[in-house]
Amino acid sequence: MTLTERDKKHIWHPLKQHQTHPNSLGIVKAKGCMLTDEHGNEYIDAISSWYTCMFGHCNDYIIDKVHAQMQQLDQVMFSDFTHPAAVELSEKLIDILPDNQSKIFFNDNGSTAVESAIKMALQYYFNKDDKRIDFIAFENGFHGDTFGAMSTSGLSVYNGPFEDFLIDVQRIPTPNKTNHETILKQLQEIVSTKSVAAFVYEPLVQGAAGMKIHDSEGLNKILKFCKENNIITIADEVMTGFGKTGKNFASDYMDTKPDIICLSKALTGGMVPMAITSCTQKIYDAFLSNDIAKGYFHCHTYSANPIGCAASIASIELLTSDEIQKNIQNISTEHEKFSARIKNHPKVKTTRQLGVIFALDLDTNMDRYGALRDVLLTSFMKEGVFLRPLGNTIYIQVPYVILPEQLNKVYTTIEKVLNTL
Ligand SMILES: *Cc1c(COP(=O)(O)O)cnc(C)c1O
Repeated sequence: MTLTERDKKHIWHPLKQHQTHPNSLGIVKAKGCMLTDEHGNEYIDAISSWYTCMFGHCNDYIIDKVHAQMQQLDQVMFSDFTHPAAVELSEKLIDILPDNQSKIFFNDNGSTAVESAIKMALQYYFNKDDKRIDFIAFENGFHGDTFGAMSTSGLSVYNGPFEDFLIDVQRIPTPNKTNHETILKQLQEIVSTKSVAAFVYEPLVQGAAGMKIHDSEGLNKILKFCKENNIITIADEVMTGFGKTGKNFASDYMDTKPDIICLSKALTGGMVPMAITSCTQKIYDAFLSNDIAKGYFHCHTYSANPIGCAASIASIELLTSDEIQKNIQNISTEHEKFSARIKNHPKVKTTRQLGVIFALDLDTNMDRYGALRDVLLTSFMKEGVFLRPLGNTIYIQVPYVILPEQLNKVYTTIEKVLNTL
């Protein structure tokens, strides 16, 4: 029996309607940019397995660091103890995060990093006896699948069963060149009737929405408005963090820095799950008191798991190396050339790019998980490239270590498949 057949007996997959999509392809090996399936077919992982494995799969440098950590200290409770890997990671993160960040809180995944940020914002005001219960978020944002994160997500097509239980969120459009004044007016209206604790946003690029890029000047104005109105700003950099946008963090492009930053995905280079919620001294200080209850009583059993910390330390060392920084610039330049070439294709409506993130919209209306999207995915796989279209958007987010001929194959495969439409 194949893995695909054995899988169907007991496994329930995420994001899947098993009745219409019963099969999952067995992947048995990954190295660098390549995935190998159980039949021996190879695919270029052109979306870095959901933007995690940015330094390539099974990266030897990360493996060595993790291996050494495994022989030294595997796991220890983090509420009473600390350990070298957590301390070193906190120092390395503070070094590269925006200057105003000063404290590091550990979580297990992107959703709980956001969940923590939301709880921090609520308790920040609770501790100050200022009851603020509303949030602001962008339309079509995605922040994860736990209740708080799900509430702030605007992509709620599949949230029907849970809508009665979500926290209150006011939605604003993402800024473009022409709507700054409209958004500021709407914000003014929101704060005149609601007690807003925080604004949760994906800075500059909305990943799950289809790599939608918004206007940085407009975002700056929104962040400035939040600062002036004591609204805590929570940058969800789970996707944009660690070099994707061409800088270490998308927030590095902004004048106003966020109070809280959520990180995961590329944090560990895809080796193991881990996440971080970082914050400013001001947020942290609001939890200091002789009253125990004012502390932040939120914890995950595997908080600051040493293996995850070791993988993260190795990943940050790679990210900040000259070689990877040069690769990031090279991929950006190659994307620009590809964009110039593909944007006049009769099937292409628009292209957009920031750093290593590239996306094109097809000139057709499609369901997010509709039939044409399945045809595209299958066609790409037949050509040996794993790309995962979102609605009518085809996006590329290759590992920073991709070889020139592999990147070229990603481009020519997209062109070839578009020519068959
Ligand atoms: C993936 C993602 C999340 C959720 O992270 P998980 O690890 O899947 O829970 C949250 N926010 C953004 C922007 C993401 O891309």
